[in-house]
Amino acid sequence: MHNDVKNYDLSGKVILVTGAGDGIGKQAALTFAAAGATVILLGRTVSKLEHTYDEIIAAGGPEPAIVPLDMKGATKTHYQGLCATIEEQFGRLDGLLQNASLLGVLSPFEHIDHDSWNDIMQVNVTAQFMMTQALMPALKKAPHASIVFTSSGVGRKGRAFWGPYAVSKFATEGLAQVMADEYEGSNVRVNVINPGATRTTMRSKAYPGEDPMKLKTPADLMPTYLYLMSDDSIAITGQSLDAQ
Ligand code: NDP
Repeated sequence: MHNDVKNYDLSGKVILVTGAGDGIGKQAALTFAAAGATVILLGRTVSKLEHTYDEIIAAGGPEPAIVPLDMKGATKTHYQGLCATIEEQFGRLDGLLQNASLLGVLSPFEHIDHDSWNDIMQVNVTAQFMMTQALMPALKKAPHASIVFTSSGVGRKGRAFWGPYAVSKFATEGLAQVMADEYEGSNVRVNVINPGATRTTMRSKAYPGEDPMKLKTPADLMPTYLYLMSDDSIAITGQSLDAQ
């Protein structure tokens, strides 16, 4: 893996990033576009996606596409429509970064709210399963397709008070392992990134007392994201990588 982001070339690739309006997803979209990819920006807040779009255009990147979608309420039909549009416009999908997630409220086990549990499972697990399943026809049309899911330290070892978020990240690791095993030997590879503590809105919600200036920025993580989206990682599947 190269540490310098300039060593990666994603020219000609079409990559969908969920949660592309903020935090790590926004930085990934900007970085993939700077490396030459056409990026499909998916998220729930249109104004944030438009900012990411404007920054890509201002930097001279390939024109991105915007897909406003709330993964909490989206159905199989939405995701199938998304796949049809991608195939129509681009012919294939080379990369899928499942990045958007909900943290929810950190609380003791006995206080976990059922509605909040369901929302977190819906966005972090079920929606990601449904979207990935619906996008398989477009991914299979790419010469080498890379699916990257986003985990967390609490998706590998449970931690008190992290309830549904931690459980959802264990599920993410599990889904990626099942898919990697199933698609082994095909053109589709499936891996996971654990970003580690990163200066974003989600992190500041989880650790409000922390000095954010002591944390890595989303830009610091980008070599791992570029590596998994580039042809350098064609032979890599079923791995769970730490971005830090
Ligand atoms: P942020 O909360 O900063 O950004 C998350 C993005 O996901 C936002 O753009 C948000 O949209 C979008 N999103 C949330 N819910 C939905 C939804 N229902 N439909 C569509 N989009 C949605 O998070 P981070 O950048 O910090 O996290 C990115 C990923 O990294 C997550 O999977 C997180 O679990 C993981 N992670 C982060 C760590 C960290 O320290 N930051 C550590 C470990 C893992 P909107 O802008 O509209 O809110």
